[in-house]
Amino acid sequence: MAKKCPFLRQIEMLEDNYRQRGLRNKLVKVLQNKGIKDERVLAAIGKVPRHVFFENAFLEHAYQDKAFPIGEGQTISQPYTVAFQTEKLEVKPGDKVLEIGTGSGYQACVLLEMGAKVFTIEYNKKLYETAKAFLPKLGYKPFFFFGDGSKGIPAKAPYDKIIVTAGAPVVPDALIDQLGDGGILVIPVGDRNKQVMLKITKKNGKLTKEEFDYFSFVPLLGEQGWGK
Ligand code: SAM
Repeated sequence: MAKKCPFLRQIEMLEDNYRQRGLRNKLVKVLQNKGIKDERVLAAIGKVPRHVFFENAFLEHAYQDKAFPIGEGQTISQPYTVAFQTEKLEVKPGDKVLEIGTGSGYQACVLLEMGAKVFTIEYNKKLYETAKAFLPKLGYKPFFFFGDGSKGIPAKAPYDKIIVTAGAPVVPDALIDQLGDGGILVIPVGDRNKQVMLKITKKNGKLTKEEFDYFSFVPLLGEQGWGK
């Protein structure tokens, strides 16, 4: 059988057809049933094509509510986790959001769909390069950075919102410093296997901390994370 031209394969992969939209609507209902209420978060998840982050052989996994390997020992977060963190972040159109852990870029797309201006940083060179090349093809244009996000990106601070998508041993001071007044930081903190989701709000220099459910993230590496 003749081999399909790679260009045609890519177009097919990026295609968002009736079946995929249907599966996405089902995923949105699953997330609603699990307690996600923010209509804007649900609408964003309903819009971002998750299947394009998967190789053809794994397409049937794209709209299941589970994390999935993206190579380099990393994962695309479970949709429920993305929805939960995004809901806690209370994203408003025009918010300046820093995301630590670009990974596949899926979470950044959800934030962009909600009208945020997104700065995303990734520690793994290959994942950084892949996301930077791929997202604009989908029409998503965050500002990409390569480096240790446990230190934030001081040059672009302050941020209205900061989301950390890897498990941290402690809340990095740098991220608190880079949070603007009225800002919200959402970060999973704990040991290497299990972390509690924290929402930290900064108001007039005062910090308020709320604790939510337990999650299991890959470790936040770097200076203010688990190290190299
Ligand atoms: N947000 C991602 C998505 O939508 O696909 C999922 C992120 S994945 C669970 C965690 C990511 O954090 C990995 O890609 C990992 O390489 C990255 N990471 C770990 N430590 C980091 C650090 N210090 N700075 C930036 N990225 C880091």
